[in-house]
Amino acid sequence: MIIDSHVHISLYDNNATSLQGAFDLFLKEMEKNKINAAIIIPDNIEGSNNIADLEKAMELIGERKNFFLLGSPQIIQRGSSELEKYRKLLEEGKIKGLKFFPGHDPFYATDERCLPYYELCQDLGMSVLFHTGENSGDSECAKWNDPKYIVEVAKKYPKLKVIITHYYWPKMDYCYEITKDIPNIYFETAAMADAEVMEKSGGIEKIRGILRKTISDRPDKVIFGTDWPMCKIEEHIELVKSLGLDEDMEQKVFSGNAREIYDILI
Ligand SMILES: [Zn+2]
Repeated sequence: MIIDSHVHISLYDNNATSLQGAFDLFLKEMEKNKINAAIIIPDNIEGSNNIADLEKAMELIGERKNFFLLGSPQIIQRGSSELEKYRKLLEEGKIKGLKFFPGHDPFYATDERCLPYYELCQDLGMSVLFHTGENSGDSECAKWNDPKYIVEVAKKYPKLKVIITHYYWPKMDYCYEITKDIPNIYFETAAMADAEVMEKSGGIEKIRGILRKTISDRPDKVIFGTDWPMCKIEEHIELVKSLGLDEDMEQKVFSGNAREIYDILI
């Protein structure tokens, strides 16, 4: 079984002309790559025709039982004021955690406007996911999502499940070292098989090495994600398969760990 834990419904890098069209394309990708379930990450920009926000993602998913969602609070525009909205969505099981975009938006993971959301997720046993690393063509933005701040959050909320996506590329060694003694840090693989990410981060062997070390340290805490449609699903499957994990471990990365971490029943 494969769960893709990092998907956007967007018109980037595909030929869809509507969000419904992009969702239909993803359904085809799922079938082609034998993906059984997916976690859709809505953008925190609302009402865009190019990328689905939470409301649109809910509408597209409809009654499907193999799709799950995260929430994306608007820290810059709304501070902590969406706390009750997200409390309700989390408690009702409509979303499985919260995604934060430091680096897309100018705030640090330690920003005090984020703290009530972390406390909420910790209380409910839910996860927070942090976008990390450079954005394509913009290396400056990585200062906002430096894992040193994420480590501070994980220490302050020791029961919170803190998931890092994109491994703070291209500085993956630094990210590995600074997080390695923090037990409540988790990793998700989105974009790690992307050609630009691989090249700038030191090549495929470097990435395999980082992933092998991380999985060996945290066998229950590494989950599969792709960042479709910006990145290709098949390249990410290939990357995980190329690690030479034993069958049980590979299954945990592809789906077992995500089921535990996000409490997914499928
Ligand atoms: Zn993403």
